[in-house]
Amino acid sequence: MTHGMTHGKSDGMNGGTNGGKSIDDVLAELRALRETDLPTHGGRTLAYVYDSGLAEVGELGERAHALASSANGLDPTAFPSLLRMENDLVATAARLLGGDERTVGSVTSGGTESCMLAVLAAREGAKQRTSTPNIVLPSTAHAAFRKAAHLFGLRAVHVAVDEKTFRADPAAMAAAIDDDTVLVVASAPSYAHGVVDPIPDIAAEAARRGVRMHVDACIGGWVLPYLRRLGDEVPPFDLAVEGVTSISVDLHKYAYCPKGASVLLHADARLRGGHYFASADWPGYTMLNTTLQSTRSGGPLAAAWAVVRYLGDDGYLRLARDTRTATERIRTGVDGVEGLRVLGSPDATLLAVTSEDGADFDLFTVADEMALRGWYVQPQFGHGSSPVNLHLTITAANHGDEDGFLTDLADAVAAARAAGPVVVAEEMRTLIGAIDADTLTAEQFEGLLQAAGLDVAGGLPDRMAQVNALLQAAPARLRERVLLEFLGLLYRPHRG
Ligand SMILES: *Cc1c(COP(=O)(O)O)cnc(C)c1O
Repeated sequence: MTHGMTHGKSDGMNGGTNGGKSIDDVLAELRALRETDLPTHGGRTLAYVYDSGLAEVGELGERAHALASSANGLDPTAFPSLLRMENDLVATAARLLGGDERTVGSVTSGGTESCMLAVLAAREGAKQRTSTPNIVLPSTAHAAFRKAAHLFGLRAVHVAVDEKTFRADPAAMAAAIDDDTVLVVASAPSYAHGVVDPIPDIAAEAARRGVRMHVDACIGGWVLPYLRRLGDEVPPFDLAVEGVTSISVDLHKYAYCPKGASVLLHADARLRGGHYFASADWPGYTMLNTTLQSTRSGGPLAAAWAVVRYLGDDGYLRLARDTRTATERIRTGVDGVEGLRVLGSPDATLLAVTSEDGADFDLFTVADEMALRGWYVQPQFGHGSSPVNLHLTITAANHGDEDGFLTDLADAVAAARAAGPVVVAEEMRTLIGAIDADTLTAEQFEGLLQAAGLDVAGGLPDRMAQVNALLQAAPARLRERVLLEFLGLLYRPHRG
């Protein structure tokens, strides 16, 4: 734990202090805090974290992170090691994702930043400048694109997806493109349903209209190519597809790297220019940025570089094989649990588990029961034709314990059945229906939060099913406002 702290002159390392607490005490405190978190290893947390199941991968990432965390990517001439590592990672990603000798890219802090930069570059590089630029995206596109549109002043044009397959509809996407469209987006795969959009059809239309096309392979980009090598029929999705101008892939997902690293690839350097930024018009150094960050820790970059080198192509192929086996077993097992089914026909390693029509149990309660059994599964609210479901991100660490998961899942469903339905009182529904999300006062928020059981002072309830049922009853806009208010209450430095 103490590697990297070798240059101090104080006696802090020997158990003394340097004015504050001793190093041992501080680290003990930190470990105790971390015990309250969901586990990041072991495969029991089926969202947010990605575990290769190989202990040394985690350790290598941590050590490489420590070796470069004080280096600053702000100036690649001052820290050429970071420049080299970034070029190496971009080259590896380009090889994996159908790039050629013209492909360039950037390492960013995560998928959201990669998606945002794709939008920014498209806005800046649009052939004809418009004062009302828009991006055309399937309704299943990651929320990061809404954030990009919000921050960069573009309109997000959401196009309905196929009601049954949840795949983007190329004809509807084509119809939504207009003279103000600067970017068309599709996913490989989508987060919510794990399906790959029909990218060649969408890209062809974008190209025909002279509009850029971004493929969001943030979650799938480091696993789909390996699934293909294993014989799966993975639809074409990468830079090799005619008309695709950029693609994003997160290193901190299926490349099993520590958090804080993603790659955005552009088909050529001209396409990338729009997200570079320079400012010489101030008395300080000439600021040159390739991403949204200016000071950029070398830690996540070095950690990703090390893990990618260590695992190599063969390592990722093996991990993809394990993940694929685990996904197949869990998928089959879920369909064997009475009342459960997998939503749609997932193409990758993500599953959305929903209940059969007329099922006599509540899915949010199943999530609570899984939590009691030591598993985190992520509730997804109903949206359009997509019913309430539980999201599972399957990783290599799930291989070997598929039966453990499925046994607990069946038990959780049985317990949810015994617990009975979760009812939202009629007066609560009426109250929610009468609220205008945009004119809510702080007091009304407070009342709603309390009614929803989100009483921050008392901590989160052990069971979230009632809260989730209420949130599901609220329109999306109201859910956003209520949860942001809740977040604002969580982030108070002086809360008892
Ligand atoms: C995770 C994800 C993102 C956003 O990535 P962050 O690293 O969470 O910022 C974007 N798109 C898809 C499909 C994702 O799964």
